[in-house]
Amino acid sequence: MHIVACVKQTPKSDNVKVDPQTGCLIRSGAASDMNPFDEYALEEAVTLKEQMGGQVSVITMGPPQAEAVLRDSIARGADKAYQLGDMAFAGSDTWSTSYALAKGIEKINAITPVDLVICGKQTNDSDTGHIGPQISAWLNWPNAAFVKKVLHINAHSVTVERLTEDGTDVLEIPFPCVLSVVKEINKPRVKSPKGRILAKRAEITKWTADDVQADKTKLGMKNCPTRVVKSFVPKRDVCAVAVPGANGKEKAANLVALLKENNYI
Ligand SMILES: Cc1cc2nc3c(=O)[nH]c(=O)nc-3n(C[C@H](O)[C@H](O)[C@H](O)COP(=O)(O)OP(=O)(O)OC[C@H]3O[C@@H](n4cnc5c(N)ncnc54)[C@H](O)[C@@H]3O)c2cc1C
Repeated sequence: MHIVACVKQTPKSDNVKVDPQTGCLIRSGAASDMNPFDEYALEEAVTLKEQMGGQVSVITMGPPQAEAVLRDSIARGADKAYQLGDMAFAGSDTWSTSYALAKGIEKINAITPVDLVICGKQTNDSDTGHIGPQISAWLNWPNAAFVKKVLHINAHSVTVERLTEDGTDVLEIPFPCVLSVVKEINKPRVKSPKGRILAKRAEITKWTADDVQADKTKLGMKNCPTRVVKSFVPKRDVCAVAVPGANGKEKAANLVALLKENNYI
């Protein structure tokens, strides 16, 4: 079985800054790590490989420093790593990003046929949750999002439990297919000492837009259909009011009076 996990390097959650002119994330100098949801995607891929045999490949689209997330993935049990890096990809929206990743997966599929692609539910920077379903649309492979459990897997299909707004449903999906997983699906393992050594030595395959035969009119900020019109950090007016009162009862009465006075209740 050949499973591809999509992993993205994102700024640590307390470290996201936005350029007010371009509306893009300021990545240079920001401490980065594997997107937390991708740890679950990778863990599921490695667990299924251990169950079924085969290999796990990881793919990322990102700048040169994103290589670190691929080495991290090798340390966690991935076998092969692919990086899509090219100025043509810069500033891509989710439509363009998923197109580039789909072209990369197409090329991986031509080398070793792919059964399953696993993405995280969302990222902690752009946070759209678009990429998994969009990759499946570009590849014309079936998709299940919000997968919380793999119930059964064989050489031809996977049966999953998927979260819905009012519960769960069970789907059997034929290969090749794309899943996006939620964090309830597993508990990611810690990196082993052997994994860390393999990660240092691993060869990372780097591909440009031309290498994956991507149509450049579908890539980059100029060509993507989404426009960031404005981005800003919301202003917060925080003011604290000390509610007077000699005891709890008095304070509660004064609080209710204050809320009424300000038309909150
Ligand atoms: C007009 C526009 C311009 C933009 N310009 C920039 C820019 O200049 N710089 C910038 O950093 N961002 C930019 N973005 C944001 C960028 O489009 C998104 O970060 C990217 O498309 C991924 O979307 P997401 O983070 O919401 O992923 P989600 O859809 O939330 O991610 C779901 C899953 O998809 C997979 N995934 C997502 N992204 C990747 C990836 N790159 N590689 C591998 N797997 C992935 C992961 O498994 C992840 O868990 C721009 C967005 C727009 C709309």
